[in-house]
Amino acid sequence: MIKHDRYGEIVQLMMGRKMNGTVLYWTAAYLVEGLLIDTGCAHTAAELCQFLGEKELALVVNTHHHEDHIGANLALQQQRGLQIYAHPLAVPLINRRLPLRQYQEMVWGYPEPSQVLPVSDTIATRSYSFQVLETPGHASDHISLFEPEQGWCFSGDLFVSENQKMLRSDEDIDGIIGSLEKLLLLPVKELILFTSIGRVFTDGKSSIRRYLGYLESLRGQVDRLAGRSLDPSEIRDRIFGRETRLAELTGGHFSVLNLVEQLMGAQQ
Ligand SMILES: [Zn+2]
Repeated sequence: MIKHDRYGEIVQLMMGRKMNGTVLYWTAAYLVEGLLIDTGCAHTAAELCQFLGEKELALVVNTHHHEDHIGANLALQQQRGLQIYAHPLAVPLINRRLPLRQYQEMVWGYPEPSQVLPVSDTIATRSYSFQVLETPGHASDHISLFEPEQGWCFSGDLFVSENQKMLRSDEDIDGIIGSLEKLLLLPVKELILFTSIGRVFTDGKSSIRRYLGYLESLRGQVDRLAGRSLDPSEIRDRIFGRETRLAELTGGHFSVLNLVEQLMGAQQ
């Protein structure tokens, strides 16, 4: 399923596989003057191509290599002959078929490998110039696109909530914090964050500060409980009550425990 919304010049495309009448997980892509940022998942590739139809489309940038961001790369490349760019570390990951967990295959599907090129430092459209920022943490090949005149920042999966309780098992919390601190230093008063789950934070810097404050406070709690020799799962239960159901559904790929363990590791 695909739906769209507009934020001035920006078209937000929300995509997700519908099963039993429910969309399992919404992923956003953004279209600005022929620049498409991310391409959703494989299950919605045909719908995205159809939606884009004859619309202006000059190039694609993937924020990182995860399967819910590159799913329509090949279809768009074949249909429109587009050039696709990503972080140099993402290039060899997108150019081949990567193994997926069972839940990933169900929710997003296998992206067909596509030929992408290393992105340069800036991306220009007719009216806008985007700085390509390295923002690792969620993935080591994660980039964000920042348009300084407009204050727009397309931040992919780097930041999705002010009080996120779960992490993927391969995320790096210190990397995430460092990347968010980098965004706080961007030379704009108003930073508008366009996230890959579709949430748009119009006062992005305040939202980032609140998230960093939340992580700091959480780290303090984890540290105190670890000091009393509680193990990570006991610490999780003390702070959050219990694990989320998503941890079971994803075989531990997404979990509260991952966040607690990362915060414990980050203290050492
Ligand atoms: Zn991701």
